[in-house]
Amino acid sequence: MRTVTKSSKLANVCYDIRGPVLDKARQMEEEGQKIIKLNIGNIAAFGLQPPDEIVQDMIRNLPDAAGYTDSKGLFAPRKAVVHYCQEKGIQGVGVDDVYLGNGASELIVMALNALLDNGDEVLLPAPDYPLYTAAVALSGGNPVHYVCDESSDWFPDIADIRAKITPHTKAIVVINPNNPTGALYPEPLLREIVEIARQHQLIILADEIYDKTLYDGHVHTSIGALSDDVLTLTFNGLSKNYRSCGYRAGWMVVSGDKRHALDYITGLNMLASMRLCANTPGQLAIQTALGGYQSIKDLVAPGGRLARQRDLAYELLSQIPGVSVVKPKAALYMFPRLDPKIYPIEDDQQFAYELLAEEKVLIVQGTGFNWQAPDHFRLVFLPNTDDLREAVGRIERFLATYRKR
Ligand code: PLP
Repeated sequence: MRTVTKSSKLANVCYDIRGPVLDKARQMEEEGQKIIKLNIGNIAAFGLQPPDEIVQDMIRNLPDAAGYTDSKGLFAPRKAVVHYCQEKGIQGVGVDDVYLGNGASELIVMALNALLDNGDEVLLPAPDYPLYTAAVALSGGNPVHYVCDESSDWFPDIADIRAKITPHTKAIVVINPNNPTGALYPEPLLREIVEIARQHQLIILADEIYDKTLYDGHVHTSIGALSDDVLTLTFNGLSKNYRSCGYRAGWMVVSGDKRHALDYITGLNMLASMRLCANTPGQLAIQTALGGYQSIKDLVAPGGRLARQRDLAYELLSQIPGVSVVKPKAALYMFPRLDPKIYPIEDDQQFAYELLAEEKVLIVQGTGFNWQAPDHFRLVFLPNTDDLREAVGRIERFLATYRKR
C-alpha cells in the first residue's frame, strides 16, 4: 500500500497551542488525572457563559436557521457590523465590505490565501497568535517576524518593522489587543504603522478580537479608523468579547481605498463562495450581541472577575524569583519571562511537558507563539482565583526544582 503523507504545503505549518503537550494532557485526563488548564482562551469552559440574551435568541432563531445564506452573510448582522465600524470610526464601510465567517479564524486564512503567491512576505509580530504564521505558510508565503519589545510594554518595534520590509512584503499583521502579551497599542504607535503601510503599499491585517476586553478603563483604537486610504482588513467576532467561542461567529471588514484592490476583493469573494456561508445560527447571534448590553464591561471593571484574575496572576507570578511579567492591559493572557540565568531552559516544549507531568498544570511554551528564545510561556488567566492560586503555586514549586538543577 502507498503510504499516505501530508501535503508539502504543510511542511512549515505549525499550531502548538493544540500541539503535542495538549495530547499528553488529554491522555492524562483519560487516565483520570485532574489538570489545571492555563493553555487556551476558551472562555465558556471556565464558567463564564455567554450573555443569556444571545443564548435565548439563538434558541429562538434555530428553527429558521437551517438554510444557507449569502456567502458573505445575512444582511442584518452585516449591517450591525457596519454600525459597529461607525462607532469605532472605521470610515467608508458598507454592508458589501463585511464578510461573516465561522469565527475570525476562517476569514484570516481566507484573506491570506486570497492574497499570497509563493514567496510573498507578510510581517507578523513575535510573539504572535500562531494562526497567522501558519496561515501565511499554508498560503505559500514567507512569515517574517517583527519584534515586539518586552521592555516597552510589548509594543511593536517600529525600527525592526522598517528593517524587515523587502520588495516581497505584501502585508503587515497587527494584533491589538494582543494575544499572547495582553498589550494594547496607543494611537501614535498605530499611526506610525499606518504610515509605514502607506509608504510601502502594504495591506494591514488588523486583529481586534479582544477590543472590548480592556482593563483599567483603557480605550481601544481601531487602526482602520486612522486612515481612509490604506487597505485594511479588520477581524473581530463574538468568541472573546461575548464568551461564545463555540458559536463560531466572526467577521472581516474591508476598509480604505478599495479601487486598487478590486482583483483581490474578487478573490476574497470567490473563497467566501467556495465555503458557501458561515453557520447561520452564529450569524444570527451577531446582531443581538452588538446591539445588546455589553456585559464584558462587568467582568473587566475593577473588582470584576477577569480583572481580579488578571491582578492575582500578575501579582503571584511577579513574586517568583527570576520571573518577570508585563501587566496586561487587555485580553486574557500574559507572557512571563523566565530569566535564562536562573532557568537554563533549552527546549521550552520539554519544559511545558515536564510541568504538566510533575505538577499537572498546562501552559503553552513561548516558542509556540513564534518567540525565538525558550524563555517565555503563555498563561491564560481564565481559571477562578482559587484555581489560579493553586496553579501558580505549582508553577513556583516546579521552578524551584529547576533552579536546583
Ligand atoms: N485572533 C486572535 C488574536 C485570537 O486570540 C483568537 C483565538 O484565540 C482568534 C483570532 C480566533 O478567533 P475565532 O474564535 O473568532 O476564530
